[in-house]
Amino acid sequence: MLFKDIPGLLSIKNTLIHSVESNHVAHAQLFHGSVGSANLALAWAYSTYINCEKVVGGDTDHGSPVAGVPSAVVSVPTDHSADACGRCASCVKMAKMVHPDIHHIFPTPSAKETILELLPTWRKFLIQSPYRSLTDWLEFTGVTGNKQGIIPIKEAHNIIEKVSLKAFEAEYKILIIWQPELMNIESANSLLKLLEEPPAKTLFILVCNDTNKLLTTILSRTQRIVIPAFTDEETIGYLTEKEGVAYDRAKQIAYLSEGNFSKASELVNYEGESKHQWFATWMRSAYKPDFTVLVKTADEFDAFPKEYQKGMMEYGLNIFRDLLLWKNGAEALVRLEGEELTFVQNFSKAVKAEAIELIVNELSQTHYYLERNGRAKILHLDLSLTIAQLFKK
Ligand SMILES: [Zn+2]
Repeated sequence: MLFKDIPGLLSIKNTLIHSVESNHVAHAQLFHGSVGSANLALAWAYSTYINCEKVVGGDTDHGSPVAGVPSAVVSVPTDHSADACGRCASCVKMAKMVHPDIHHIFPTPSAKETILELLPTWRKFLIQSPYRSLTDWLEFTGVTGNKQGIIPIKEAHNIIEKVSLKAFEAEYKILIIWQPELMNIESANSLLKLLEEPPAKTLFILVCNDTNKLLTTILSRTQRIVIPAFTDEETIGYLTEKEGVAYDRAKQIAYLSEGNFSKASELVNYEGESKHQWFATWMRSAYKPDFTVLVKTADEFDAFPKEYQKGMMEYGLNIFRDLLLWKNGAEALVRLEGEELTFVQNFSKAVKAEAIELIVNELSQTHYYLERNGRAKILHLDLSLTIAQLFKK
């Protein structure tokens, strides 16, 4: 993973590159970004850059990257033209995540599976896509059921021991901790000790989604880098170039995924009728109302993958919010086109604003119950009947 492989985020890439070039790499950094953002991809690209033997575009020798250690060269790149070479021995190992000086801590489905055992699976997962969620990872490990993921203390200790050794090949050891919020208090405290008295030439990169779940003592010892969600343009670019999605579909997915690449990929991979058509048919059946079709729709909904079910509720929320905007004369704020726009125009004539607000509540409640593993078929049928009633208001 090189900087150039990650769409957009120029100013963050520049900051990271500059920190290396100017010897201001903090020994503990927190890459904070929402689910599906580039936080893990950036940690990977940054580690690759730091260890690259032949950085291109910047200086051939970027000197010593740790703050306080003098370096011969200091330069300030004005764009992200500086990047790891992608070809040297270090970069080749980094691309496969097999560099002996990069250590990983990540959640395992339970205390039974060790990080060492899961490491080959973890590498495969990252190489396929570094933009995925914890749920994606747990599914990838093949576990079934409602697993949460944990970072057991035993694991944290093992890796911390490794970090205390001297680097094998690179000048620096780098420890990437994905989802540090899943460390229990014991693991977190042992990490804290390390951050307080860091071993020489070691960088800690904590890659997290939710800083509220981290100890404030850990937060205060890390330099925080906030990584924004991808823009619609970046998502469209990524989907059309990397996933071979047609422009119109990419645009629709970008709108739905709100900068979350994990969600965007899932929407791409789900082979089904387009979400809008399914949603529109459902709403028309509720408007009539046609109960036979609604029962059938609930069966279809039940067969969708869980994330797609939640995605359908989110889609519905977006559409009904747009409907409300349209009804309140804020047409300029509605970003829809084509069939979706026609849908909003038609329904805005037929449904009262008060009913739309209540439907928004119902959709968001159903989303909440789905997230908590409520029975999809019953939730959906309930929702259909409520919406049918509200349409008649
Ligand atoms: Zn290189």
